[in-house]
Amino acid sequence: MSVKAKKHLGQHFLKDELIAQKIADSLTENGYKNVLEIGPGMGVLTKYLLKKNLKTYVIEIDTESVDYLKAHYLNLADRIISKDFLKINLTDYFDDEPIAIIGNFPYNISSQIVFKTLENRDQIPEFSGMFQKEVAMRIAEKEGSKTYGILSVLTQAFYNVEYLFTVPPTVFNPPPKVDSGVIRLIRKKNYTLPVDEKLFYKVVKTAFNQRRKTLRNSLKTLNLSDNLREDTIFAKRPEQLSVTEFINLTAKIEKDAI
Ligand code: SAH
Repeated sequence: MSVKAKKHLGQHFLKDELIAQKIADSLTENGYKNVLEIGPGMGVLTKYLLKKNLKTYVIEIDTESVDYLKAHYLNLADRIISKDFLKINLTDYFDDEPIAIIGNFPYNISSQIVFKTLENRDQIPEFSGMFQKEVAMRIAEKEGSKTYGILSVLTQAFYNVEYLFTVPPTVFNPPPKVDSGVIRLIRKKNYTLPVDEKLFYKVVKTAFNQRRKTLRNSLKTLNLSDNLREDTIFAKRPEQLSVTEFINLTAKIEKDAI
């Protein structure tokens, strides 16, 4: 018995054991005892997680995959969460214990998985896994590049990001249309922003929503004072600003509002 891939669930099962092992081994095992795998499918990656000195949990939306896992991984049975990752509260399953997140993720919900991780960063010291290559690169990208954007800035405000390796479509069943990339996020020592977080998100999103405009134009809707808008930083475009500069910009806007 095996699971027939369902496209609407982003199912591309990994065939290559070596790559599954490499993804599992990307975990540093530093600062947590639990790992939660998102979308285990038939467990190709899970198998290598179970060999580690960690308590492995999996969350899978597809009941057919859940049945498969229950039948084939008896020692995992009471740690299979048959739910949609995007809809659960992590604290319902892990209290406030730290957990690492890992997966060969469903690509149709890549950004949402990252955003949920950022929201729950107090509990997630590490995050590692596979996305479509373009998304993996975007998360890791530094300023000055066309692909540097909202995902890059927000993720790197809280995590150090490493792009680890690229994976070709041929090692999946069915093969996706694009290359894939594996990245690792390690939470920064200081992951509390010195500015209002909501405002920071708003500044980053508003600026990149019109990424070809200067900040002076794209941030008009934030009703900044004429005085502040004279600041030279407003002559820049969002892709020219480092994460630290976005934080400094938010601090200036925060002061402006007082
Ligand atoms: N890890 C497996 C499967 C990867 S495919 C492998 O490498 O072979 C992505 C998996 O994510 C599928 O099993 C799919 O059912 C599951 N999935 C899709 N959306 C999900 C969601 N919202 N929550 C949890 N799992 C999800």
